[in-house]
Amino acid sequence: MSSPRSLDTVEIITIGTELLLGFTVDTNAAFLGQTLSAAGVRVAERTTVRDAAADIRSAVERALDRTGFVVTTGGLGPTRDDISRDVIATLFDMPLTFDPVVWDAVLARYARRGAVPSESNRTQAMIPRGAIVLPNQWGTAPGLWLESARGVVVMLPGVPLEMRNLLVHEALPRVTPRTGGTVIRSATLRTNGVPESTLADRIGDLEDRLAPLSLAYLPGTTGVDLRLTAWQLPAAQADALLDRGMAELRRIAPDCMYGEGDADLATAVLERLRQGAHHLAVAESCTGGMLGARLTDIAGASDVFLGGAISYANAVKIDLLDVPAAVIAEHGAVSAESASAMVQGVASRLGADVAVAITGIAGPGGGTPEKPVGTVWFAFLVHGRVETHRSVFGGNRSEIRERAVLGALMGLWKRLS
Ligand code: AMP
Ligand code: MG
Repeated sequence: MSSPRSLDTVEIITIGTELLLGFTVDTNAAFLGQTLSAAGVRVAERTTVRDAAADIRSAVERALDRTGFVVTTGGLGPTRDDISRDVIATLFDMPLTFDPVVWDAVLARYARRGAVPSESNRTQAMIPRGAIVLPNQWGTAPGLWLESARGVVVMLPGVPLEMRNLLVHEALPRVTPRTGGTVIRSATLRTNGVPESTLADRIGDLEDRLAPLSLAYLPGTTGVDLRLTAWQLPAAQADALLDRGMAELRRIAPDCMYGEGDADLATAVLERLRQGAHHLAVAESCTGGMLGARLTDIAGASDVFLGGAISYANAVKIDLLDVPAAVIAEHGAVSAESASAMVQGVASRLGADVAVAITGIAGPGGGTPEKPVGTVWFAFLVHGRVETHRSVFGGNRSEIRERAVLGALMGLWKRLS
């Protein structure tokens, strides 16, 4: 007997018309990508198709021809649009046969909830002859492992919770012995305040010396992440290369790196506050407490974060933060002058030596030609000095508010260095 096919490269096919219509975000593909990569399986391609026999069939055939290993999600349910099982069983020449064990599991599941399955649930007990059943304790549709000379297709249900559990507990244990014992591992350096192109200039031909690691520049609202990835290497070798590569990256980004892995900017700010034995207060207008929420998301924030004021109405800015009414009357609530008065007010009321104030126009209404929607004034009190800064953020109301929170965190982080 020939040795079983190696499963080191996979293609993902997510099946569901709702995915193409955009009503459902394809979180399954993201989870599969992360989990399979972590297990050492390289994801070569990802495809999404609607619930249509011809489309499913051709996508699976093409993927099998390319890599011989395919994971699908969706279309295993009991309703008419759930046709993946039929289509792929036909492709593998495995006629569907009623499986009493699977049916008993469906009955038992319904019984536990005091319910009776409908006739259409019987389709979920129709199993391609020769397929391996991946029992589903989290729902009614079992996963299926079909294997022939053509390759391997693992079919998982579309419901994300069921898909995740079946992948991790049932499918992966059958995959990992066949990946060649290598891993795909990444390490990330998070930077802020230096543009991607400048980082690229600094890195220069260091990139060649990082080989065989690949380097990705990932710009986003929190700055630029630099991600190194080791592809299908023995774990010890991957880790050693990543350690060396990260040391090189740290050398070129000492002024702008704020963390590694999934480190958060708020965590980095709290850490800098801690290092300087500072105490932080915040005055929030357009972000309505979102900055405070972000900081208090992090356990242990209380040693450096005192609290703040949600000074949304002008009266609160005046009464609670001692912003002079004349300042608001003359410059408006969204101004350098108001932000500056807010930051000094909150710091003195709360006895903080570091403070930030945010006041802006989140929209959709309220913009003017001089102060368009997205205008946000920040004031920072750090090392006894007040500095103001204006940003004009794009996006909708929630994006503007989110960016204002990040702007405040970034401004603090830089000034605390
Ligand atoms: P299905 O197994 O195709 O009947 O899918 C059941 C439900 O799972 C759908 O109604 C979607 O809400 C969800 N779903 C299906 N595919 C995906 C996917 N790729 N990512 C996230 N959710 C999904
Ligand atoms: Mg579906």
